[in-house]
Amino acid sequence: MFETLSERLSGALERLTRQGALTEADVATALREVRVALLEADVSLPVARDFAKAVQEKATGQAVTKSITPGQQVVKIVHDELVRVLGGDGEGIGRLKVDTPPAPVLMVGLQGSGKTTTTAKLAKRLSEKEGKRVLMASLDTRRPAAMEQLAVLGRQVGVDTLPIVAGQDAVAIAKRAKQQAALGGYDVYMLDTAGRLHVDDELMAEVAAVRDATGPHETLLVVDGLTGQDAVNVAEQFDGRVGISGVILTRMDGDGRGGAALSMRAVTGKPIKFVGLGEKMDAIEEFDAQRVAGRILG
Ligand code: GDP
Repeated sequence: MFETLSERLSGALERLTRQGALTEADVATALREVRVALLEADVSLPVARDFAKAVQEKATGQAVTKSITPGQQVVKIVHDELVRVLGGDGEGIGRLKVDTPPAPVLMVGLQGSGKTTTTAKLAKRLSEKEGKRVLMASLDTRRPAAMEQLAVLGRQVGVDTLPIVAGQDAVAIAKRAKQQAALGGYDVYMLDTAGRLHVDDELMAEVAAVRDATGPHETLLVVDGLTGQDAVNVAEQFDGRVGISGVILTRMDGDGRGGAALSMRAVTGKPIKFVGLGEKMDAIEEFDAQRVAGRILG
């Protein structure tokens, strides 16, 4: 996902580390390259600009040009800044607020983003890694195939799904899931809401009604990481209309440029909690800013 960015950044910074003494002009040139590399990775313009500015200020403030290993200092500053823009020290990342049973988790996102797959992946993880009893329910009343898909995945990962009852609307299904979760002694119930091709009023109203009926402890937006700045726009819209507690970026195994990951936190203020890395049910990882920054800088 970050190959090109990684190559470009390493290239720009390597020139600095090979030099002995650095002038401020050397640092400025490298930072221009850093900014271009970020923009090419589809990072939003204000984020790329702030990034370069922050590095420049820190580099100047720490009198990098006078230090013994100036290039390495700049690399460290860029690394720390990457960690910050990716979401900081990761407090709460990878951990979901599901401690008070039955904890509702609302899964939202556009159609095709990987929402149903991700719901099943997370359910498997919660059940296997945290020993939670999980119930999943599909609220996609317009697409019976999507409901069936969740049931199939549920059987595959050994997680229960709410029996499908024809003719119920999304809120009725959500209430039934809540009741079933309480009666059945489940720790968590996950609601896989319907998606659409674009954000529209009807979709947002439905998701908001489900939210109001269940009071989710987590509202997780699933977005396709390959869509770059579009993913960030979708996140802003969902957050504005229904409120989200975190983001899951899918298809991070693909050859996207990584811009979504780098802009998401800075633009929306919401943490990326997990990333999807393939179609298999184990292909999900918690998002760790330190690790990703390390990977980007090689
Ligand atoms: P939904 O419409 O949002 O529920 O999307 P689905 O869960 O049905 O996923 C759409 C397609 O994307 C399926 O073929 C999934 O296997 C695939 N998919 C989901 N997450 C990932 C991922 O992280 N990486 C890859 N490569 N494919 C994914």
